[in-house]
Amino acid sequence: MLAGCAVQVAQSRGRVFPEPAHAYRNDFQRDRDRVVHARAFRRLEAKTQVFTRRYSDHFRNRLTHTIEVAQIARTLAGALGLNVDLAEALALVHDIGHPPFGHAGEKALDAAMRAQGLYFDHNLHALRIVEHFEERYAAFPGLNLTFEVREGIIKHSRDYDAKEFPELAGYLLDQRPPLEAQLIDLADEIAYNTADLDDGYEARLLNLEQIMAGVPGFEDFYREADQRYPGAARKLKFNEAMKRIMDRMVGDLIANTEACAQEAGVATIEQVRAHPTRLAAFSDEVEAARKQTKDFLHRNLYYSPALASEKEDAERIVSGLFAFWMDDPDSLPRNYREKAKLEPLPRVLCDYVAGMTDPFILDQYAKYCGR
Ligand code: MG
Repeated sequence: MLAGCAVQVAQSRGRVFPEPAHAYRNDFQRDRDRVVHARAFRRLEAKTQVFTRRYSDHFRNRLTHTIEVAQIARTLAGALGLNVDLAEALALVHDIGHPPFGHAGEKALDAAMRAQGLYFDHNLHALRIVEHFEERYAAFPGLNLTFEVREGIIKHSRDYDAKEFPELAGYLLDQRPPLEAQLIDLADEIAYNTADLDDGYEARLLNLEQIMAGVPGFEDFYREADQRYPGAARKLKFNEAMKRIMDRMVGDLIANTEACAQEAGVATIEQVRAHPTRLAAFSDEVEAARKQTKDFLHRNLYYSPALASEKEDAERIVSGLFAFWMDDPDSLPRNYREKAKLEPLPRVLCDYVAGMTDPFILDQYAKYCGR
């Protein structure tokens, strides 16, 4: 449908270190494979999405969340005639810069950095991972990803101002990202809004009545499932309703993005880039439902008393370890002591902590700060 707006792999702005073409994988497919083989990608398995393993080991973690986003992103890109390989690579890399302990860990790390006059941004951290920290290839540092994947890492969820971020000047900051990148943040929203309702219900932190009252559309879909499968277990009817909610969001995003592009008279990738606003979007109605669902999850799940102790642990552990190493950098591993000769200590600590998994940071805290 929007094939003219798709990023063509043959027109990629290429890699920092030029490489010969591969015999049977295009450059975006190679980037996807490089992400999947990265150490930072594997560590996502042991990072909290919303629930720590205290609740259950069949809830989402950052890795399974990432796989769900990739599945949705492929569907969206395929239905819109966009570049599926690029969308998949961007989805698989979209959370690679996230620290341990989910959102609470991110906030705590940012607060520790702000106390030093710096800050933590997971998109910029993801770029540092793929450009510098991954050591896999003899010919170059990092993963040497194509321009379009690096651009998408930065721009998938927000815009950066060139004055504030001069180091990003090479990433066409005055232009919108391609639709493949614009879709990632919305695929992420679809994935976690539905998954967190599912896990929250399964954890018994949310009940059916609450979800019916707070999540637009859920009650109708549940009643529909109830009529069709009157003898089915509640959880299966719940699943049927969630499936329809996800389907409505995906279908709406496809139809509305196409309509927005058409209305704006945008039919080429250059026009997508030059357009003053992002074109990938839900319709007003589904956007309102998305916001309401998100608010519901904030109120009833993310900031619920049941998850408060996890949040407090995350803050105590991240800020405790950060403060410990600020005072005693000699007890850092040798490669980080070396890095601290070249970069400010808080930045080096931030990079170290951000890369940690939940179990690893817990071990480090026990070792250096006691229980
Ligand atoms: Mg995500």
